[in-house]
Amino acid sequence: MAEFEKVLTREDRLVGADLTAWRAAGGGEGLRRALEAPGEIREVVEASGLRGLGGAGFSTARKWGFLPALDGTRDGHLVANANEDEPGTFKDRLLLEQTPHGVIEGALIAALATGVNDIVFYVNPHEEKAIASIRTAVEQWREDPEFARVSDALPRTLGLRVVPSSGLYIGGEETAAIASIEGGFPFPRLKPPFPAESGINEEPTLVNNVETLANLPHLLAGGASWFRGLGRGDACGTKLFSLSGDVLNEGVFELPMGTPLRELIDIHGGGMLEGKRFKAVFTGGPSNTLLTPDDLDVPLDWDSVKARHSHLGTGAMIVVSDGTGIVKKVTEYIDFFAENSCGQCPCCKIGTRQVSSLLKKIDTGRGLRSDLDNLAGLSRMLPGSGRCGLIDGAVTVLESSLYKFREEYEAQLLDR
Ligand code: SF4
Repeated sequence: MAEFEKVLTREDRLVGADLTAWRAAGGGEGLRRALEAPGEIREVVEASGLRGLGGAGFSTARKWGFLPALDGTRDGHLVANANEDEPGTFKDRLLLEQTPHGVIEGALIAALATGVNDIVFYVNPHEEKAIASIRTAVEQWREDPEFARVSDALPRTLGLRVVPSSGLYIGGEETAAIASIEGGFPFPRLKPPFPAESGINEEPTLVNNVETLANLPHLLAGGASWFRGLGRGDACGTKLFSLSGDVLNEGVFELPMGTPLRELIDIHGGGMLEGKRFKAVFTGGPSNTLLTPDDLDVPLDWDSVKARHSHLGTGAMIVVSDGTGIVKKVTEYIDFFAENSCGQCPCCKIGTRQVSSLLKKIDTGRGLRSDLDNLAGLSRMLPGSGRCGLIDGAVTVLESSLYKFREEYEAQLLDR
């Protein structure tokens, strides 16, 4: 195993809501540099190759660039998104609990780069420790002289607030997060207008995942070249992987972007459970495609995983072994999506339920070949039919399982 450097989860940085300890571990240096040259932050972030680590993988600097110039005539908002409610993803709560000052410092740097003045930490209410930790940390910053310096550098007075999300999966979608912060039900909204133009209170709004923000203090302190060099091959930085399923050590592992899947499972995850053999991994959570034994050497970075027709997503890796029925597992995930559909789009509301019912029929040995054909038909018809990505995610996992494990579906048909 090659040597590597941890950034977000370096032991001395996991100090909880203790600002003095955070600074003793080198915290504050990134913000100091950002304050010296706010106009250069975006350039450094662009050169670092940092991408959105909440699942989208879009260039962070380019996303910031969509915000209009803020001249002080209206507020600009930053939502630090920690809704995190997808099965198998549990990295953001670790950051908020154990290194909340890194997240806050990152948000302050993003504010200096873009001019936004209202920073909202949007946190899943089920994560009580995370909420308590970020609230305490926010209080400490409000009293800190550095906070006043950041506020003075912005077009409008800076505010920090913690807003518990609805705790619903759909609340993590960025327009749903905005609706929730405004006090409404987290219904995803039609785009355009995009949040950068019209978000919270119809004002410019940037939504960044907390892992993305947590990288900024270190990136500013260490420089773009250092950050790029943390990854393997052409990949940049590190990634928090949420590893779960049939492995010996489940947990969050911070590894260089581009670490092979095999190394994540065998070395950091301790290998498969005794007597179990690797069968597949639900990559990036349950809304992406499956990787199988042929893919074990794929480097876990955006482009390499995409080249396997999959997606790194949130970095969740749900490992399943021989003996796990893929149809059953996919049924479980489709049920999750059906239950979490907000119901605004008929194709999503009805489609996810229909897929769920066909899958259950097959999984319980009552399915016919025509049911399998209907599933394939739905997987072609449904993508793109909803306002948000929920329906597309549900179809992606279905389609991938049909492609890679067709024989399991066939074997369970009544008229096989
Ligand atoms: Fe709601 Fe589904 Fe439409 Fe998304 S696609 S807005 S979850 S009904």
